[in-house]
Amino acid sequence: MNIPVTSYPRIVIIGGGFAGISLAKKLSMQEVQVVLLDRHNYHTFQPLLYQVSTGGLEPDSIAYPIRKILKDFPNFHFRLANVEEINTENRKVLTDIGELKFDYLVVASGSETNYFGNSEIEKHSMAMKTIPQSLNLRSLILENFEEALLTSNLNERNALMNFVIVGGGPTGVELAGALAEIKKGILPKDYPDLDTRLAQIHIIQSSDCILKGMSAQASAKAEDFLENLGVNVWKNIRVTNYDGKTVTTNTDLTFETATLVWAAGVKGATIKGLSVGEFITHGSRLLVNGFNQVKGFENIFAVGDISCMVNEEFPIGLPMMAQPAIQQGKQLGENMVRLIEGKPMRPFVYKDKGAMATVGRNKAVVDLPKFRFQGVFAWYVWMFVHLFFLIGFRNRMVVFVNWVYNYVRFDREARLIIRPFKRKVKE
Ligand SMILES: Cc1cc2nc3c(=O)[nH]c(=O)nc-3n(C[C@H](O)[C@H](O)[C@H](O)COP(=O)(O)OP(=O)(O)OC[C@H]3O[C@@H](n4cnc5c(N)ncnc54)[C@H](O)[C@@H]3O)c2cc1C
Repeated sequence: MNIPVTSYPRIVIIGGGFAGISLAKKLSMQEVQVVLLDRHNYHTFQPLLYQVSTGGLEPDSIAYPIRKILKDFPNFHFRLANVEEINTENRKVLTDIGELKFDYLVVASGSETNYFGNSEIEKHSMAMKTIPQSLNLRSLILENFEEALLTSNLNERNALMNFVIVGGGPTGVELAGALAEIKKGILPKDYPDLDTRLAQIHIIQSSDCILKGMSAQASAKAEDFLENLGVNVWKNIRVTNYDGKTVTTNTDLTFETATLVWAAGVKGATIKGLSVGEFITHGSRLLVNGFNQVKGFENIFAVGDISCMVNEEFPIGLPMMAQPAIQQGKQLGENMVRLIEGKPMRPFVYKDKGAMATVGRNKAVVDLPKFRFQGVFAWYVWMFVHLFFLIGFRNRMVVFVNWVYNYVRFDREARLIIRPFKRKVKE
């Protein structure tokens, strides 16, 4: 891998997401050698992926080169590599570009879509965890309308304009809201020769409310917002299968659709060598102690979505969200320095800063630890927080200008089929 051998202890970090980057930044000026490995050469701001899928933002405004984030740090090395295996005994990682020894390993590999073992759904549905997946979804949505315009078969046309989103968490809610706005503001202009009023957006949630992790007030208001936008909200219904045409559920209800977006769950992105054992717990995550050490290991740590830190308040682990990942990364950076200096580490304490979701123009719900609010002000707060956490001045400016433009013009100009999405099954 062409990494120099130095007298400093080598810390290998797998993953340049929220957790890996905040950890690397904390270690930047320390007497350690840091090697960060990621299969992408950029950091992805996942909370705005749905805007890429719906043509509101270009992908490069929510991605940032990892090398640029860490360019001024001495003793820092980035390698574009897919980590295939971890050899815990010999303290090395095996990747598609070679092997690397470590003194300390931090797994910050995040999470992946959880299909709960349903391979049919996995094969035919669309996921939205990465930028390439979001671009696929963007292409598919637009291709559907192009196809709908051409077909004279009414059932086929309806299925092409029918969008089913499974999962009523923030991802599903935000995507449904954005699709509803496209239906209202853009489709009639782009497709005057197609009856776009027939386009349907369904969101299906297995429990009795959407935005389950938020307050009852936020959940009810978000549902109101969605219904006012014309989204069909289905609750207490579990999707059982999708064969590329028909969505079946645990009730009599079925949906004919050419697009099923699966936003119903995630699980830890485990890596061979550390994927089976007593440390694997809820949602395929790595069980860690209060110092983020993986159960049974002194020198292997896990942070962010892949880690499961259990306490009284969070019996199945901290929420798989950006804040726990950022906070854990920072704290582990401090703890690793303490560990190397022979000082005792300090246990991680999660500071809950709240949660928020937007449903569309002027519509958002915000739950802060002490206040809850919804509507226009919540929408401004949502925008400010997302701009603040985006990495890079240029990205903030580009996103801000795009939002202002889209707001004033009621537009989404990135509705481009740059790389057509090839359906896996086609009649
Ligand atoms: C669509 C969407 C919307 C979201 N919205 C919100 C929101 O509004 N608010 C919120 O707080 N959270 C939100 N989240 C969740 C939040 O993005 C995650 O909790 C956060 O990204 C976790 O950070 P992480 O560093 O653990 O993992 P990630 O950010 O996922 O980073 C993991 C990194 O590891 C790399 N990697 C994984 N496996 C390997 C391997 N084997 N080899 C090399 N590299 C590897 C990946 O390429 C990636 O760069 C959203 C997530 C999604 C998908």
